[in-house]
Amino acid sequence: MTFHELKLIPPLLEAISKEGYTQPTPIQEKAIPHILEGKDIFGCAQTGTGKTAAFALPLLQLLTQNRATAQQGIKVLILAPTRELALQINDSFKAYGHNLNIRHTVVFGGVSQHAQTTILRKGVDVLIATPGRLLDLMQQGYIKLNAVEYFVLDEADRMLDMGFINDIKKIISKLPAKRQTVFFSATAPPEIRKFADTLLKSPVSVNIAPVATTAELIKQSVYFVSQENKRPLLRHVLKSESIEHALVFTRTKHGADKVVKELNKNGIKSEAIHGNKSQNARERALKGFKDRSIRVLVATDIASRGIDVDKLTHVINFEIPEQAETYVHRIGRTGRAGESGVALSFCNTDERAYLRNIHKLIKKNIDVVATHPFS
Ligand code: AMP
Repeated sequence: MTFHELKLIPPLLEAISKEGYTQPTPIQEKAIPHILEGKDIFGCAQTGTGKTAAFALPLLQLLTQNRATAQQGIKVLILAPTRELALQINDSFKAYGHNLNIRHTVVFGGVSQHAQTTILRKGVDVLIATPGRLLDLMQQGYIKLNAVEYFVLDEADRMLDMGFINDIKKIISKLPAKRQTVFFSATAPPEIRKFADTLLKSPVSVNIAPVATTAELIKQSVYFVSQENKRPLLRHVLKSESIEHALVFTRTKHGADKVVKELNKNGIKSEAIHGNKSQNARERALKGFKDRSIRVLVATDIASRGIDVDKLTHVINFEIPEQAETYVHRIGRTGRAGESGVALSFCNTDERAYLRNIHKLIKKNIDVVATHPFS
């Protein structure tokens, strides 16, 4: 599927291609048509899936198309649990909306409110906010929500975990009843579903990759190893195990290049794909990996998006990702469609805390490979 087939307007298509996106992610494919149709959405997806664009693109389009009839005031309200996420969403609106004349801003706590209220006074169409600061500014009369037509609650599960429920309820009570609501959560336990029911009208559910089940199909193991021994260990693993074909994840572009250099020097044909590589170079590497002329593809998380390789048997985490969800996404590239996959992870002392978070998320401990030459 292409972005064009999702019926996005040319200014958005142009912005998307400028961002370097070649095709929609699954959550975008599923959510964008429904949002454009005016439906409420219950979306279950984690960060890293492209969920921000899944709501930002259609909302920008709806705003542009409905502008003639709209009254003054904030039309889109997006609530996010943290300042970092709020800033990221604001950056996305900036990137995707750069051909459109739509005013957006972000407010969050922990900084002076002066700069924020100055922008608000001039008027904005899209407001991205964390709950505490939003309420504060509402109570001081800087923000009114009576013109809001579209409301997005992002990372709802984290919002509840962080104890924002009462703030959110207060905010919602000030929203017009007639509105379109998009609800995103990484997980969907009963309390989240119950909460969503109070906000959404006949919602369409969109889900991607149920985290725990993906992980269950995959044989996972971890090697404890120092950072300097990771490259020798990778060589060792690639030599001794029956690994025909592997996708290796590194945290940085530089790290990816180093791994590739070392593997090639040792006769293991590999290529890196990351953001510093041209589109051509990336496509070449991917093609080589798919037709098996390249045995090992080394990728960063962002670059790996859109890599869809049939029968990928092995994923190797050269570094443990900081976000547990990222781990699940990485290993989910193998073991697709019920086939078994293998995920190996290299963990140094500093990374053990990340590993603990992964154990919590996938609700099991990953087997440790106790005997290897670099333990
Ligand atoms: P998110 O899940 O919204 O945090 O997005 C994760 C990352 O994926 C962001 O860096 C986006 O810029 C990027 N991204 C979103 N949509 C696409 C796409 N269709 N193709 C490639 N990258 C994307």
